[in-house]
Amino acid sequence: MYHCGAGVGALAILTNGNFYPCTSFSYAKNSGDDLVIGNVVGGINEDALLNFRNKIAIDLSDCLGCDFLKKCFYYCPADNFRVTGSMSEIPYSICELNKVVIAETDLFLADLYKTDNEIFWKKYGRRTA
Ligand code: SF4
Repeated sequence: MYHCGAGVGALAILTNGNFYPCTSFSYAKNSGDDLVIGNVVGGINEDALLNFRNKIAIDLSDCLGCDFLKKCFYYCPADNFRVTGSMSEIPYSICELNKVVIAETDLFLADLYKTDNEIFWKKYGRRTA
């Protein structure tokens, strides 16, 4: 399952001509070239791109019982890689941050729902009854 455009619809081109799946992965340019998916001379390296795509399928096995599963934004393989060294493993810190942000956002939106906030209702459509 892909959760973002890295290696699918996104492309970062560095000043040295190398292609990365996303700007968030270009920071790793000094840790080895295994995240390079091509360059301006040779174009996209299909094997490297496929290898990358195989690494970013997020493992949701620990999330299946979570109340926040449908609202969670666990989709950044670059953040995962930066913290855990694995693109598919969601770091504990990001998981806990997601829980707090989702819960607080729900409370905030519930409060806004009770108001006549023009911006909120313009975005979500005014309630009718
Ligand atoms: S909050 Fe944590 S456990 Fe729940 S879906 Fe998100 S990453 Fe998974």
